[in-house]
Amino acid sequence: MTLCDSCGVKEGKVTVEYRDIEGYVTRSRLLCEGCKDLEDQFQQYRILARSFLTMQRTRQSLDKKVKLARHGVKEVLSSPAKWAKKEERKMKKEVYELLGEDHELVRWINNTALGETALLVYLGEINPTMPTVGRVWAYWALTPKGKRRSGQRVVGSPQLKGKAMFFATVCIMKRDSFYYPLFEAKRAYYRSQKDANGQPKYRPIVAHNKAIYWLAKLLVAHAWESLRKEHGLPINPHRLHIPRKPSPEATPPPEILEKLKTGQL
Ligand SMILES: [Zn+2]
Repeated sequence: MTLCDSCGVKEGKVTVEYRDIEGYVTRSRLLCEGCKDLEDQFQQYRILARSFLTMQRTRQSLDKKVKLARHGVKEVLSSPAKWAKKEERKMKKEVYELLGEDHELVRWINNTALGETALLVYLGEINPTMPTVGRVWAYWALTPKGKRRSGQRVVGSPQLKGKAMFFATVCIMKRDSFYYPLFEAKRAYYRSQKDANGQPKYRPIVAHNKAIYWLAKLLVAHAWESLRKEHGLPINPHRLHIPRKPSPEATPPPEILEKLKTGQL
């Protein structure tokens, strides 16, 4: 008996195939019936998330053009711009209603400085049937193979990597009570690193960007954990596990900050 690739508990019964743009099967895996249903639901959320982003881009583009327009054109454009704004707001509200406020991902997002856009992107781009966060990071191009190097194929989506970095930046700009101190501690660690000559190993901007990248991965991990928990699926904490933010005012445990600063985490 082969066990389900997602829960590792039930028998794997359905083969799920993943194809590349040309239609070739690049990977296949065996899921139990329950996890296959979850995978189907996830595909629906992906459609929802991508439609939302399309709407949002349209609205942002209209807003920009309304600002530039003059003499009558402004008036013609302002009505669709207002409409797009209203529809976007309505869609956000309906997504919350669809999931319910007790949904683990909604609860976690509500504890952070992040909002609806992050909620939708995590919902639509993190497959909850992935048994390890490493596989999610690879999909989001948040692994060394996700870096562009000449002559090598990029693993994962560079667009998603950009989004992940943006959400980390939002937590930093808004001084999230939990994630900002974690970022600062990690940055302090990178800044304290010395090379063989006793000189700083990273320039300040490099240390800063490395810490943003680290936070981006942590947030994706926490979103993945929320989704796994929501569906009662096991979470295998990786070696350097940091727990999720538990409430809106929560601050990180001092021992975690200390470990981050000294490179133990
Ligand atoms: Zn399963």
